[in-house]
Amino acid sequence: MPVAHDEMERRVEEMKDALRARGMRLTHQRIEVVREIAGSEAHPDAETIYRNVRTRIPTISRDTVYRTAATLVELGCVTRTTLTHGPVRYDANLEHHHHFVCMRCGAAHDIVDPALDKVRASASSAGIGSVETVEVRLRGVCTECERSTGTTRRSRRKT
Ligand SMILES: [Zn+2]
Ligand SMILES: [Zn+2]
Repeated sequence: MPVAHDEMERRVEEMKDALRARGMRLTHQRIEVVREIAGSEAHPDAETIYRNVRTRIPTISRDTVYRTAATLVELGCVTRTTLTHGPVRYDANLEHHHHFVCMRCGAAHDIVDPALDKVRASASSAGIGSVETVEVRLRGVCTECERSTGTTRRSRRKT
């Protein structure tokens, strides 16, 4: 699912401002990396970003992708997340949100759900440290995977 156009442009401008403030030249290549990260809800890893940008700029180097992504993390424009086993993934959604992670294909979807926002750490976690934010991770099988294997549970959904 692509990010809504306005939201994507807002993110792109924010990232460009931050890179500029850092003294980085806004090359065509860097801007394409920025657009790829800002426009994706898929929480891509660096390799996926590289593959996608390469379809538009065949000469882009892996190094440019990795370094631009790392700089965006440093600047606080993007967060690093490990939603699944494997490489670190990038999340350009800075609003507080939760995730649904598909255990079959590894897809990670953002969830904004006031009910999940109400989850609080209980006394059992007291003593470990002070909690600043709670993120809930739902694990399951995404509808696309369910569809492709023909295991839609329509009957169960009706109830
Ligand atoms: Zn899936
Ligand atoms: Zn996310």
